[in-house]
Amino acid sequence: MLTFQQLASVTHGKVLQFVQALPIIHLLTDSRKLSQPAGTVFFAIRGKYNDGHKYIAALYGQGVRQFIVEKEQDETGRTYSECYPDANLLLVTDCLGALQQLAAWHRAQFSIPVIGITGSNGKTIVKEWLAQLLSPDELVVKSPRSYNSQLGVPLSVWQLNSNHTLAIFEAGISLPGEMEKLQPIIQPTIGIFTNIGTAHDEGFTSRQQKVQEKLKLFTKVDVLIYCTDHELLHHEVQAQPIKTFTWSRQHKADVTVTATTTAGHKTIVVYTYKGEKQRLAIPFTDEASVENALHCLAALLYRNVPFAEIQDRLDRLHPVAMRLEMKEAINGCYLIDDTYNNDLAGLAIALDLLANQPQRVRHTIILSDLLESGLPEEALYGQVAALIKNHGVEKVIGIGPTISHHKTKFSDAAVFYSSTADFLAQFKTDDFRNELILVKGARVFEFERIVHAFQQKVHGTVLEVNLDALVHNLNYYRSKLAPDTKLMVMVKAFAYGSGSFEVANLLQFHRVDYLAVAYADEGVMLRENGITLPVMVMNPSPDSFAKLRQHNLEPEIYSLELLEQYLKDLPSDTLRHRIHLKLDTGMHRLGFTSEDFDALFPLLQQHPQIQVISTFTHLAGADEALHNDFSLMQIQNFKSMAAEVEVRLGYKVIKHALNSAGIVRFPEHQLDMVRLGIGLYGVEATGSEQEALKPVSTLKTTVSQVKSIVKGETVGYSRKGIADSDKIIATIAIGYADGYDRRFSNGAGMVIINGKRCPIIGNVCMDMCMVDVTGLDVKAGDEAIVFGSKLTLTEMASRIGTIPYELLTNVSSRVKRIFFSE
Ligand SMILES: *Cc1c(COP(=O)(O)O)cnc(C)c1O
Repeated sequence: MLTFQQLASVTHGKVLQFVQALPIIHLLTDSRKLSQPAGTVFFAIRGKYNDGHKYIAALYGQGVRQFIVEKEQDETGRTYSECYPDANLLLVTDCLGALQQLAAWHRAQFSIPVIGITGSNGKTIVKEWLAQLLSPDELVVKSPRSYNSQLGVPLSVWQLNSNHTLAIFEAGISLPGEMEKLQPIIQPTIGIFTNIGTAHDEGFTSRQQKVQEKLKLFTKVDVLIYCTDHELLHHEVQAQPIKTFTWSRQHKADVTVTATTTAGHKTIVVYTYKGEKQRLAIPFTDEASVENALHCLAALLYRNVPFAEIQDRLDRLHPVAMRLEMKEAINGCYLIDDTYNNDLAGLAIALDLLANQPQRVRHTIILSDLLESGLPEEALYGQVAALIKNHGVEKVIGIGPTISHHKTKFSDAAVFYSSTADFLAQFKTDDFRNELILVKGARVFEFERIVHAFQQKVHGTVLEVNLDALVHNLNYYRSKLAPDTKLMVMVKAFAYGSGSFEVANLLQFHRVDYLAVAYADEGVMLRENGITLPVMVMNPSPDSFAKLRQHNLEPEIYSLELLEQYLKDLPSDTLRHRIHLKLDTGMHRLGFTSEDFDALFPLLQQHPQIQVISTFTHLAGADEALHNDFSLMQIQNFKSMAAEVEVRLGYKVIKHALNSAGIVRFPEHQLDMVRLGIGLYGVEATGSEQEALKPVSTLKTTVSQVKSIVKGETVGYSRKGIADSDKIIATIAIGYADGYDRRFSNGAGMVIINGKRCPIIGNVCMDMCMVDVTGLDVKAGDEAIVFGSKLTLTEMASRIGTIPYELLTNVSSRVKRIFFSE
């Protein structure tokens, strides 16, 4: 067991205080993910948006007693030893570096084969597949999900224990210099370089430099496995003294693929290895999967797995779910479907996600036996039970003989079943109501059958919301803000159609300063679902004031009349009542003008219990350069009006003017706070920096029927869709009642089916519409993308003369929302 003193020497740190010897088991880098204080060491990492030192006090309060810090004292000047007399404290120059050094030291304790994987695409899939393909012979440890960053790699490697016989870790970089840090942590003995593409190009001066950087992972490997068909990659590898094991479809290589043909749902590969010709059926047909499978084939051949055995194992390969999905289910329940990954690290990640969703009061887990953890059963189920307990999960359902055998480790209320079939036989929908349910099981337990039992009847149309993209966009706007500029995020209109509490919840987790909604009910809904951030309500009706106070929501006051109504039934308590003053500087929608001031301020002065928190204005034309002069005039007027507000009130308030477009266009006028809206949802309203954002929402539906019509026949209501030639048409399950605008009728709109754009033919109906799929291979059940990354909201909006805001917020509430993260 590593001691604190050893930890100090491994990380070249200085012990500031040593109180007691404690086990070093859990490395914590995100204070929100604390689960077992005993045995936890917290690394106070300073990141771009956050500083771990801010969370030491809270963690100490929760029982953490080991801290790695970069400073000796907190911002008030008190030393950490003085503040935390019971804690072991270690001072280092760089907490992330210390974590990496510790992981590298840990890695060096083991002399098993370690496969290191990098490349632009396919890293995670190749890793997951190899783990499946090699596990009949080996006890494999692997990176959880796509933990491949400067932070993720050390945490992955830390899982290694003495029972493992093989490790597979992935490494991803976005900047020069990063791979040199990951190499000593992974110390791969076998390398796999999947391919090289455009991802993260912006961090490097050239594609060649990017390849060279990535190759630094492999400076000490026994062998590097790669495909020589990637010319640049091949060229760079050859320039280095690395031993290789290659495959190719174009040249002679260690594994030469001479033919690939598709047969039904399989791809038949003919290849030559050591002079012998072999055939292999890969259970996938798409190009990316075939390439990933060929990397795996090469790795298996290199490890001398017999040919027949390779086929047998490939047959059992299953697609990897790359993301954790949260889906609506029966009786108001939500389901986190994590049916593919059931190691301990994966369990911890999924439980974190569960714990960070306060909106469903009751949290439930359905968990199978854990296979291949490398730990003795006793210890394993002890840890599983502790993790579940520490994440506040109330209802535990265990399925499988082994977990059932260890039932005494779990709470008394936990229920156990010997098999999935046993559970399903006793399943009653009424037993589950308004719960958030994590479903997590090893493949052999076929938990997809459980997921299926919980699913609501699906109307084929869904709006998929990518929570990672949302966070990416949030961080992009944050990177534009001065360090002390606050951030208010607009979650009005069901968070621009994306689902208000799921989005609000993520924003709360990422510590934005404020939320804003349009109406009182939207704010109440947030409160009822566990949102505790301050919330501004922009258009409160007088009859909602009591409700606002009851839920601690803060009204925007925009007129004297509204203020008078607000004051009328203000309770005579001693509480502070927080309001926001809206000023009209040219939008001419809501807001006070300077003429109102002489009446406004005396009224406020008579009610000292009212506290003006902020004052703000809204720009009428920030999205268009054409209006720059007008916007600047609005900003100037606002500044002088706001200054007068502060003088008349006699105290400072938060001043804010910029919306998403304003943040991009007028960075010098951020004032105290900005109000982010559409940008969070992936639309850059000025159009100049669209590239930097990721699309958040994808609206999808399915093909209900395909039929042929002959020239001259018509399609749909009013016979508007006239076939000018023989056609194949497909009916898709979306109409104007789903929010699919009727203006998309007759060729104005289109959807993507199997990668091809298909124009709308005829009028859009209430629940359906028809598209022209002539010449394409389309069948009932195929997916149709209505908008998403290849069919952007901006493009679709402009086709019918509207704006992305309208398309997004129109998606009807009957369309199921699916939230996922990658
Ligand atoms: C909706 C709204 C915003 C956000 O606007 P975006 O263009 O979506 O960024 C900001 N301020 C006010 C007052 C709003 O109503």
